[in-house]
Amino acid sequence: MRSHLLNDLTAEHYRRSVTEGVERVAAKLAATDRPFTGITVDALAPRIDRIDLDRPLHDTTAVLDELEEVYLRDAVYFHHPRYVAHLNCPVVIPAVLGEAMLSAVNSSLDTWDQSAGGTLIERKLIDWTAARVGLGPAADGVFTSGGTQSNLQALLLAREEAKTSDLAKLRVFTSEVSHFSVRKSAKLLGLGPDAVVSIPADHDKRMRTVALAHELERCRRGGLVPMAVVATAGTTDFGSIDPLPETAELCAQYGTWLHVDAAYGCGLLASLKYRDRIDGIEHADSVTVDYHKSFFQPVSSSAVLVRDTATLRHATYHAEYLNPRRMVRERIPNQVDKSLQTTRRFDALKLWMTLRVMGADGVGELFDQVCDLAREGWRLLVTDPRFDVVVEPALSTLVFRYIPAAVTDPVEIDRANLHARKALFASGDAVVAGTKVGGRHYLKFTLLNPETRAADLAAVLDLIAGHAEQYLGEFLDRAS
Ligand SMILES: *Cc1c(COP(=O)(O)O)cnc(C)c1O
Repeated sequence: MRSHLLNDLTAEHYRRSVTEGVERVAAKLAATDRPFTGITVDALAPRIDRIDLDRPLHDTTAVLDELEEVYLRDAVYFHHPRYVAHLNCPVVIPAVLGEAMLSAVNSSLDTWDQSAGGTLIERKLIDWTAARVGLGPAADGVFTSGGTQSNLQALLLAREEAKTSDLAKLRVFTSEVSHFSVRKSAKLLGLGPDAVVSIPADHDKRMRTVALAHELERCRRGGLVPMAVVATAGTTDFGSIDPLPETAELCAQYGTWLHVDAAYGCGLLASLKYRDRIDGIEHADSVTVDYHKSFFQPVSSSAVLVRDTATLRHATYHAEYLNPRRMVRERIPNQVDKSLQTTRRFDALKLWMTLRVMGADGVGELFDQVCDLAREGWRLLVTDPRFDVVVEPALSTLVFRYIPAAVTDPVEIDRANLHARKALFASGDAVVAGTKVGGRHYLKFTLLNPETRAADLAAVLDLIAGHAEQYLGEFLDRAS
């Protein structure tokens, strides 16, 4: 069994083993003609159920053959141009190389004595990102597991910086279309059930700053304490960007922490064409960025950034065994002092490899391409009478629904759109997402693949219309 431990004696085994796995994935990527096979849970579950984990195969090739059956054959492939569903990106090769290296070396970024160069690389990437945001000389931050954790940490800092320790008095203001992790964080942080004040969004799904001003004033008058405003730079559902400069002004006026959730919109930090769309982000007290969304990085790769490094102390605890206080005096850089996690992956290496090979402009160009594609898709949708489209894209998301000529019953139109999404998934020809707007079912393209062409979108729209028409044809048959 010792031959399975990665060390000086097994370097050759490691090389062969990993190469074999890489070959399998490479073959798969090259041969994938659909984003999904359409397999059902009922068909797949028994294949996994019948594997006895207490009876290993002792042979890598045999295990890879088995993996083909239980995973690779029926996985959902984000690199396929007709995967246009969620905020998943195809990944760039330098980052995948970084991923392979970081898990083999297995650095842990909690302390300097478990990572050395890894710590400094992560710090440099944080500084680079903070500079792109424009957070100023005292900025800092740390890599996290994702936007959910980044938002939680940002709100923890905001809570600790708030002007009261009476949790029942704290209020967090965020738009009705912000990410649900804001509400989840409020709950985890012990805030009351009414702590999150939902601010209506305008026609373009941007937070209404007039309503925000009104609610902030009401909060103050009521003797409550505005703990934070969470503005979203790229909402998950629409890609809409809240008015950042106006929101920042209100935060300054009310002495409130401004958190900008740029989990999605952070790609604009590298954009060559659209950077101005997140102007105002530099006023934030904290920022969430998900490199695993718009920097084409493998999951996980995310960070929380702060304007003032001193605020990170709210997440600092010292353990004698790990990061004793004296190490701060000795200026030993222990990233655990800034993180909610302890043992932590060296995810930063993936972004490092990406920036060193492709450069930020290379990433920005890819993100610009998907934003341009969204504009083309928008034009397709507004000129097609079969569809109703919600907002003009600020990033790379399109929310729309099929509207039949002959049927006006809103419930049936909802069902037709739901049916189209399910039928498409079951066919594997394309994968699209869905959401609700004004209580009605809509479909969604999240475009993060620069290989997707307008012709792909047109073809997927035809497929959707076909499935919806088939459903409604059956409906009309039933009705008559
Ligand atoms: C995706 C997303 C999140 C959550 O990020 P995870 O990386 O999935 O944890 C938070 N906010 C916004 C706006 C998002 O789009």
